[in-house]
Amino acid sequence: MAWKHNYDELLKKARSQLPSVVFEKKRFEVPRVRGLVQGNKTIINNFKTITDYIARKPEHLMKYLLRELATQGDINGPRAVFTGRFSSTALNEKVNKYVNEFVKCKECGKPDTKLVKEDRLTFIKCMACGGKKPVRSIK
Ligand SMILES: [Zn+2]
Repeated sequence: MAWKHNYDELLKKARSQLPSVVFEKKRFEVPRVRGLVQGNKTIINNFKTITDYIARKPEHLMKYLLRELATQGDINGPRAVFTGRFSSTALNEKVNKYVNEFVKCKECGKPDTKLVKEDRLTFIKCMACGGKKPVRSIK
């Protein structure tokens, strides 16, 4: 593992020599939904990419979308399949609403958050400012 070790050291060194602002500039941009209507179903091809990016469980976003769209559907590997025809614009809007409610910190607006459960309540906890706010649970 010598190589790995050295590489990590190098990376650390390189980072310490860069002004920190370089890292803060990385913009948070949720990937746009790649939707596809097939018959009377709508498929989000990059569903997993989106949930990976926002660091939320696919099941959680899925539950939210199913409620918002008032339909049924399933996660199928990296994709999500919904009954009904939905435009990518409509799907993007829902994903953005989800991000605003369940990903972005209510205090500082940063996306570096985690959902934590305490006493059957769910909170959104911010890694950047330490803020913590309750969020509704999706049934
Ligand atoms: Zn915050």
